[in-house]
Amino acid sequence: MTSERRLDVVVIGAGPAGSRTAEQLARRGLHVLLLEKRPIVGYPVRCAEAVGPRQDVERYVVFDDSLISSPINGVVLVSPDGVRIERDMPGIGFTIDRERFDRRLAEMARAAGAELRTSHQAMALLRENGRICGLRAKDLAGGAEYDVRASIVVGADGVESLSPRWAGLKKSCRVDEVLSCAEELIEGIDVPGSRIEFHLGLEVAPGGYAWVFPKGADRANVGVGINPLLAGGRTAVDYLNGFIARRSPAGKRTRLVIGGCTVARGLPELATDGYVAVGEAANQNNPFSGGGIINALEGADMAASAIIDTLGRGSVSGKHLREYTREWRRSVGKANEAFYHAARVFYALSDSEMSRVMGELASAPGIFDEKGIKPVAMIRALIAAHPGFLVQFGRSWLGWRGRR
Ligand SMILES: Cc1cc2nc3c(=O)[nH]c(=O)nc-3n(C[C@H](O)[C@H](O)[C@H](O)COP(=O)(O)OP(=O)(O)OC[C@H]3O[C@@H](n4cnc5c(N)ncnc54)[C@H](O)[C@@H]3O)c2cc1C
Repeated sequence: MTSERRLDVVVIGAGPAGSRTAEQLARRGLHVLLLEKRPIVGYPVRCAEAVGPRQDVERYVVFDDSLISSPINGVVLVSPDGVRIERDMPGIGFTIDRERFDRRLAEMARAAGAELRTSHQAMALLRENGRICGLRAKDLAGGAEYDVRASIVVGADGVESLSPRWAGLKKSCRVDEVLSCAEELIEGIDVPGSRIEFHLGLEVAPGGYAWVFPKGADRANVGVGINPLLAGGRTAVDYLNGFIARRSPAGKRTRLVIGGCTVARGLPELATDGYVAVGEAANQNNPFSGGGIINALEGADMAASAIIDTLGRGSVSGKHLREYTREWRRSVGKANEAFYHAARVFYALSDSEMSRVMGELASAPGIFDEKGIKPVAMIRALIAAHPGFLVQFGRSWLGWRGRR
């Protein structure tokens, strides 16, 4: 086993969260190593590839046409009783080429001075006097293990992350807090108006939803995300097959994606001495939709700024890094908290209750803004349609508070 020179920061995972954190830190002159266990950054894709409005994405990446698959110009919600709510919303978002998108972010990290090592996996954290001071890595191609010493380790290891557990910030997610997903890229499918579709109901996707996201002319990502506890022993692929048979029986299946998507409550702490978690590893996905690309990038910027500030004070202390947790909770984390409790009630509704709620959502004014559904407006509509919602929402809150 070999040991390397000490670095400022070692980042685990070259997804959006890890690459963006590495780029921001390297840009400020820090010595950064970015480890990615997969041989090719961004491949295989495990995503439906939808992001929000252009200005949100352009904050983080040069967003040229090579990254864009299709504009998203509206939303369709389909209730369990088949009622469709359709809104034209030009410019609400895009589907991207996720493989190129992730690679672009990793290239930006490299261009800023970070070293990227693919096929290198973080195996464990190193500790000195009880404090995290680096990690053990494995070169998956050559088989050698080596130690990397760094002032701070960033855990951006995504849905399968182990590093926040090694650091003591996270327990295993509950089974119902990771949607089980299956998706096909379908060719020969009609997606009128380039709208994204969400289909709800226990038959379609228990505890989650099915989606159709346009990917260009006659192409779309068609998928389902389900709560395995409500699926009666059927898998996400079973539900996907049923959904495709109804929505696009003649379409050609060209790429099967299977994966988990975290819809858990935010972590109470995102940092400890010598360690910071970011992106899906830190439960930063939107717990209502499962979307996490932009959230990961937002989290990355907050994490990077706290790391720069902490190292600038000559410290690696969790006390100083905690500003990152506070900033996250003041901003995206606050909306995520509301989305989490709304989701727990919404996805547990019976089909008839769900249809009633969807009817209310259809007529509620101001439920959508340019970024999608507004959490407070949505909760108001849920209360109007389902009087028991407020009580259940409160129970979800209090139940969870007790367990934290
Ligand atoms: C089917 C599906 C559809 C989705 N659709 C959307 C969508 O349309 N829009 C959206 O916004 N979000 C979507 N998401 C969620 C989104 O993909 C994630 O939230 C996002 O990728 C999180 O980014 P991240 O950088 O935190 O993690 P990731 O993108 O998962 O990156 C983590 C990286 O860490 C690497 N890694 C893990 N462990 C180690 C280790 N020990 N050592 C080295 N490397 C390691 C992994 O290989 C991976 O490359 C979807 C998810 C799924 C499963």
